[in-house]
Amino acid sequence: MFVNLKDQYIKIKHEIDDAILDVVQSAQYINGPQVSLFCDHLSHYLGGCHVIPCANGTDALQIAMMALDLQPGDEVIIPNFTYAAPIEAACLLKLRPVLVDINPLTFNIDTQQLQQAISHKTKAIIPVHLFGQCCDMDKILNIASQHNLFVIEDTAQALGAEYQFSDGSRHKAGTMGHIGCTSFFPTKNLGCFGDGGALFTHNESLSQRIRMIASHGQQSKYQHVCIGCNSRLDSIQAAVLDVKLKYLDSYIASRQQAADYYTQHIRECLAGSVTAPTIAANTTHTFHQYTITVDAHHQVPLKDYLSQQGIPTMIYYPIPIHKQKAYQPFIRHTESESFSASNTACQSVLSLPIHTELTPEEQSLTITAIQHYFK
Ligand SMILES: *Cc1c(COP(=O)(O)O)cnc(C)c1O
Repeated sequence: MFVNLKDQYIKIKHEIDDAILDVVQSAQYINGPQVSLFCDHLSHYLGGCHVIPCANGTDALQIAMMALDLQPGDEVIIPNFTYAAPIEAACLLKLRPVLVDINPLTFNIDTQQLQQAISHKTKAIIPVHLFGQCCDMDKILNIASQHNLFVIEDTAQALGAEYQFSDGSRHKAGTMGHIGCTSFFPTKNLGCFGDGGALFTHNESLSQRIRMIASHGQQSKYQHVCIGCNSRLDSIQAAVLDVKLKYLDSYIASRQQAADYYTQHIRECLAGSVTAPTIAANTTHTFHQYTITVDAHHQVPLKDYLSQQGIPTMIYYPIPIHKQKAYQPFIRHTESESFSASNTACQSVLSLPIHTELTPEEQSLTITAIQHYFK
């Protein structure tokens, strides 16, 4: 299985079932006490920032850009190799995305090219902590402060990851920029039983503005002071998340253990054919995805071969953002862009099964099957 949410649930079934039943019996399906309780616990886990719940990770990104008062035509810098949510939210608000290529080793935004993409219209950078490890936040925050830019972290894949700054201080992914955005989609590091998301900020007035925008721009009930949206985390999802948050670190540890197994065996038996993921300096890796690279001509045949052996794999992501039709009219192109690393990544990545219930036996079958393919 590519993910195994069923067995993860079975292990904590009683706790989860009780928590859900409490909500059902209380009949406070929206804004029940579970929502603020979960947000308090998550805030504590993150080291004490404001946590504002919302309906999903894509909404979180849109609300973040609205809360920072980004205006049509403002430029926002987004990595070219990622999920579409950040650029989609930017385009909905008529902002101008400027795409930046990635570091081919970490798949995260390349900070040198980021610097070159800044213009006098640039207002924000959206670093995406892809596959579970943090971007180079030392450099990104430096660049942002030099140019007076907002930083909106997309930590939908990296909740629980930790970054160590050059001064030695350690911070959780999503708490380093002006706003952090995350998703509680079922397969994420901390997933609920439906859709959910949240925003993080250390800034009190910004947190109030975020809360207001997520609730129809209401300052108080029926006092609409700005254009907002309707984006809520419901009580059942919050109850599930509150139970699972206690296990988040052990879930991450299981993923890291599985990743270590893969990496060790790839280095021992598949060197030359398969490249294991690189963990960047200064960050932990939560291994939301375990993504190998192979020569481009092997990518799809290897995926198909593994599929025939009953081993599901995924190509995250097959098409770079700059080639997606929907966003073409919005993007500002820069002279220096070639997107060679994004293009190469799209043709060479393959994400192997990774989840909290993965056994060494399943992993061994995957490694053996890859060996057979390359024989
Ligand atoms: C999942 C994801 C999102 C969107 O989250 P949803 O809850 O599905 O809206 C945004 N960015 C990244 C990087 C993601 O992986």
